[in-house]
Amino acid sequence: MDYQQKLADIHSRIAKACTRVGRDAADVTIVAVTKYIGVEETEQLIAAGQHDLGENRLQVALPKLEGLPEAMLANVRWHYIGSLQTNKVKDVIGRFHMIHSLDRLALAQEISKRATQRGIVVPCLVQVNVSGEESKSGFAPEEVTDFLKQAREFAGLEICGYMTMAPVAQDPEETRGVFRRLRELRDEWLEGQFAPATAVHLSMGMSGDFEVAVEEGATFVRVGSILVK
Ligand SMILES: *Cc1c(COP(=O)(O)O)cnc(C)c1O
Repeated sequence: MDYQQKLADIHSRIAKACTRVGRDAADVTIVAVTKYIGVEETEQLIAAGQHDLGENRLQVALPKLEGLPEAMLANVRWHYIGSLQTNKVKDVIGRFHMIHSLDRLALAQEISKRATQRGIVVPCLVQVNVSGEESKSGFAPEEVTDFLKQAREFAGLEICGYMTMAPVAQDPEETRGVFRRLRELRDEWLEGQFAPATAVHLSMGMSGDFEVAVEEGATFVRVGSILVK
């Protein structure tokens, strides 16, 4: 299967998941995770019509950011989805359209500082450790409202919603509770006015469980292996 067919297949699975729960498929964006592939394959993926691309490490993203033709890059929105070291912030902002992994206060401070210096605003998603696994980064759900309050003071940073990583599961149904919980939390934080009105997005669901995530309200699904492997 080529990228065009694989993309059509994922779009159709998303459309079906949307139909099951009465959502509009136009509200779901596929972020194609390109960490497994090189520059040439990424070029083919873009040529196949995929314009939202995700990377979880700057070093793996750089050859693509620097090697793709300008005309192509102009049509790409890069999403930074992995854990981000504070010293890499200056190289990520401005190049990436959105950071999905805002997982600690010090990172927010650094993004704000660097964005303000450059006169830009960086859209970010707050990473929430819904499952509570020790191995996962992100704010505990009960820490988020305090963080949101502090983040209001940070210029140059726009909170656009939340991201979570579900536990590894054999059956995607096992992850449903995690996705549902993040949607409920988003609604609570919006309704209680803890969160800015812009904080509506939910980045959740990967190759193994994106349909369940879409049924539970995902607006970004981060799909790597089923698309590019
Ligand atoms: C690699 C990665 C993905 C994609 O995972 P697949 O199972 O390959 O679809 C999604 N999110 C993050 C943060 C990743 O690092």
